[in-house]
Amino acid sequence: MNQRTINRAIAITGIGLHSGESVDLEFHPQPINTGVVFERSDIVGCAPIPASAFLVQDTMMSSNLVFGGTRVGTVEHLLSAIAGLGVDNLLIRVSAAEIPIMDGSAAPFVGLLLQAGFCEQESPKKFLRIVRPVRVKIDDKWAELRPYDGFELNFEIDFDHPAFNKDYQHAQLRFSTHKFIEELSAARTFGFLQDIETLRKNNLALGGSMDNAIVIDETRVLNSEGLRFADEFVRHKILDALGDLYLIGYPILGRFNAYKSGHALNNLLVREILSDKNNFEIVTFDDNVTCPIEYLPLTHLTVEG
Ligand SMILES: [Zn+2]
Repeated sequence: MNQRTINRAIAITGIGLHSGESVDLEFHPQPINTGVVFERSDIVGCAPIPASAFLVQDTMMSSNLVFGGTRVGTVEHLLSAIAGLGVDNLLIRVSAAEIPIMDGSAAPFVGLLLQAGFCEQESPKKFLRIVRPVRVKIDDKWAELRPYDGFELNFEIDFDHPAFNKDYQHAQLRFSTHKFIEELSAARTFGFLQDIETLRKNNLALGGSMDNAIVIDETRVLNSEGLRFADEFVRHKILDALGDLYLIGYPILGRFNAYKSGHALNNLLVREILSDKNNFEIVTFDDNVTCPIEYLPLTHLTVEG
């Protein structure tokens, strides 16, 4: 089981959720042990910004990295796609202070990365294995990672609102690339109409629309096409968590359980784990059979385009 990067550079353009302006995004292959790194293409001589949980400075609406005064915001959906496809080394160049929102899910990033294709690199893939339970809590919300042979994500939300069916507020995913693509990557972000109106008054969410979010009023989902999954809201929370957890720097071997968690709590959990070396170990696997996580073979992941 070796590290992966992409086969060739590839680019896409989208809209910034907050600025409402056009944003260029490029992906470039990187050598072994580089990890995931961001760079601002609109700032001459910009220092690379590593995808590290310690650089997350605000989690108001999304996970935002700030390094040496330079900001790259809304990284979680893109990081979710990168984690989901098992990419270890990648440079992301972005022409603005935020990653474009695309359709509010990770699916457009998955499509683009698949088009670039993947290549295996001559160095073992490193995993972070949780060796003792760590739990963090803010008010009634909590998140934890426990030892587990594989990677499983359990999430529960608790919205007392007519648009949130009580039967669809919990979801579980035993992670594999296949399950990520099929069951998680297309789940969109969601927001309440009244909150969006407040954000707009503060010059935020200017690019937000029903093209890139599920919008909910007092009683129902306003998007004419409805939901992509009956439990799309909680699936999106798992998608977010997968991206936030990838800021730990490695794919995780463990079981993630969360109740009403969000970007702040996910980040607190990652920092708490990394704060004590007794919480984890870094491991590698000699072959794909002994590795408890299933990544699709490279041949299945390449799309012509
Ligand atoms: Zn999200």
